[in-house]
Amino acid sequence: MIKTKIIATLGPSCNKPDVLESMIDHGVDIFRLNFSHGTLDLHSQSLKILNDVRTQNRHATAVMGDLCGPKIRIGRIQPDGEMLTEGNEVCIVHGDEQGNIDRFSTNYEYFSQDVEVGQRVFVDDGQIALHVIRKDGDQTVCEVVVGGPLHSNKGINLPDSTISTPSITEHDWKCVDWAIQHKVDFLALSFVRSAEEITLLKNHLSKAEADIKVIAKIETPQALTHLESIIQASDAILVARGDLGVEMDLAEVPIIQKKITLICRRLGKPVIVATQMLQSMINSPVATRAEVSDVANAIMDLTDAVMLSGETAVGKYPLKAADTIRRIARVTENFVDKDKGIQRRTIVTDESALATTIAHSVGIIVNDISAKLVAVWSQTGTTVRLLSKERIRAPILALSSDQHTCNQMSLHYGVIPRCQPIPENIDMFSKIVDHYIISRKWAQVGDKVVMVVGQQIGISGATNAVIVRTISDSQ
Ligand code: ATP
Ligand code: MG
Ligand code: MG
Repeated sequence: MIKTKIIATLGPSCNKPDVLESMIDHGVDIFRLNFSHGTLDLHSQSLKILNDVRTQNRHATAVMGDLCGPKIRIGRIQPDGEMLTEGNEVCIVHGDEQGNIDRFSTNYEYFSQDVEVGQRVFVDDGQIALHVIRKDGDQTVCEVVVGGPLHSNKGINLPDSTISTPSITEHDWKCVDWAIQHKVDFLALSFVRSAEEITLLKNHLSKAEADIKVIAKIETPQALTHLESIIQASDAILVARGDLGVEMDLAEVPIIQKKITLICRRLGKPVIVATQMLQSMINSPVATRAEVSDVANAIMDLTDAVMLSGETAVGKYPLKAADTIRRIARVTENFVDKDKGIQRRTIVTDESALATTIAHSVGIIVNDISAKLVAVWSQTGTTVRLLSKERIRAPILALSSDQHTCNQMSLHYGVIPRCQPIPENIDMFSKIVDHYIISRKWAQVGDKVVMVVGQQIGISGATNAVIVRTISDSQ
């Protein structure tokens, strides 16, 4: 059992029942569907396969839909892959005309309006760098600063420009409606620039009475200037290092990652570190030393989750990739749990003072008496989120009668969610907890466990009791 959560992207490499089942057994907690690739019909097919596997597995897993946002792309190129050479000029126009290395199109209507002379234009994740030298009406003329092969439909990044398309495009709204209809647990929004965009999506979801948690993907400089308000408006944050590394100086990405992780912990929001965690495992059964070190560092910073992208979507070793994360987490968490110097409590939140205080006290109790497990009844998941934010040393067994709440709790650090009918009283709750402890060998006779409940179990917002029990022979 590890505390760090694993998110895996669905794709052709893992869309089979046996692979998905093994992925859950290898520790995957959340599956991500990237709406940038494939059609909604294809996603419906993958989700059906996944849901069949999920209902048969006792491990609670969640589904995250990833909305593309205003990703700018170039049009078709003929001949595809011809070299753009440093020092040459190239003209960019809006439309869908076929292009070449002298002139190509973009799907972005306001391209020439939004870029200014002197600004940078990156193509294909920064492989090609251009520099705007003049604008003639709808035509933007650039000089090639770093050349490379020009392929059809590659992404464009405009790190110096303010983009005037809405953050949630028409295509995104279709995906949102699909997500509501298919009852996904999380929706991630790409290229978020301000808290208002998160609020817009949340309002739409609440009007549709959809309980979907919203994750902001941080990948633009604008998001970094509004970081705190975006984190406050979101249910969780994803450090999207792919586009972030193009939009910003790549050298700044590690510091940004650490800063975001810390602010999220302080504000009590789950945080996910993503992109190229084990990139070489797309083609190799073994990760590089640098990748292993990167994953271990994110875990030492007590991130809630790490995410796999191409490694599981199109890689040759989806299971080995998940297992590699699990092995790194096991060793690193063991080290982290013994290290008394690690600052765990960073929470400063104006949320429910009682719940926050209870969570903090549980952290102290677990530490002082070396409790082996925290067991909590959490109808809506709020108490669990606050407990998780304390980065308590013991694992947190989180019980709820609501399957959807259980799925969503699988994003939180150190939490083992399980779905159970509501027990009538605290005695019955203790019996359920004992059953888990004994059958899973989570604790032995003489060990202490901490239970967090309300006098009336199953009522949200009623958590008010912390009970310490010693496992005895009679249990
Ligand atoms: P994002 O910026 O949202 O991360 P991405 O293009 O980097 O977009 P990832 O989800 O990170 O995409 O996945 C990495 C690669 O895996 C993609 O570039 C794509 O080639 C492939 N991929 C992902 N999902 C699918 C899918 N459903 N079908 C086919 N290929 C996919
Ligand atoms: Mg991205
Ligand atoms: Mg990616």
